[in-house]
Amino acid sequence: MIKQHPDALQSKSRGIKNKSNSRIPKKVKQPSKKTVKDNAWRAFSRYIRLRDCLKTTGSLEYGECVSCDRTLPIELLDAGHFIPKKSGNYFSERGVNAQCRSCNRFHGGNQLEYRKEIICRYGEGVDLELEEESKQIIKRTPQDLTNIEKQYKIKVEELLNG
Ligand SMILES: [Zn+2]
Repeated sequence: MIKQHPDALQSKSRGIKNKSNSRIPKKVKQPSKKTVKDNAWRAFSRYIRLRDCLKTTGSLEYGECVSCDRTLPIELLDAGHFIPKKSGNYFSERGVNAQCRSCNRFHGGNQLEYRKEIICRYGEGVDLELEEESKQIIKRTPQDLTNIEKQYKIKVEELLNG
């Protein structure tokens, strides 16, 4: 057995003590920008899918894809962008609609059919307005994103409570 010098022991225990002390006054960890954006998107996406289920089938459980008209359970619907996601159209209520995964993820958004349905749902020229909207650059602070999350959680509750 190797005898340690008392000073060595002391410094070792002091080291541990310091380490544990350093955990106590730790600042409350702020969620990352990605996390707040993901949370905002989750609330927005849920609102869009619920809204479109109600609009297309009258139920909160099933909805039609905006671009191929297939009716699917809400869990199988995405919130699909008419124009690929940019800051300007990221949270666009008219530019994002319930869409099947096949159209959204594998057929480039099925844009031609999507455009026809945008005009049908929102009116002539709205497709062009959405193209303009997508060109804007919007800088959102974490607080903006948190506000978006709150706003859409309220809108979801309103839909669920009819
Ligand atoms: Zn589809």
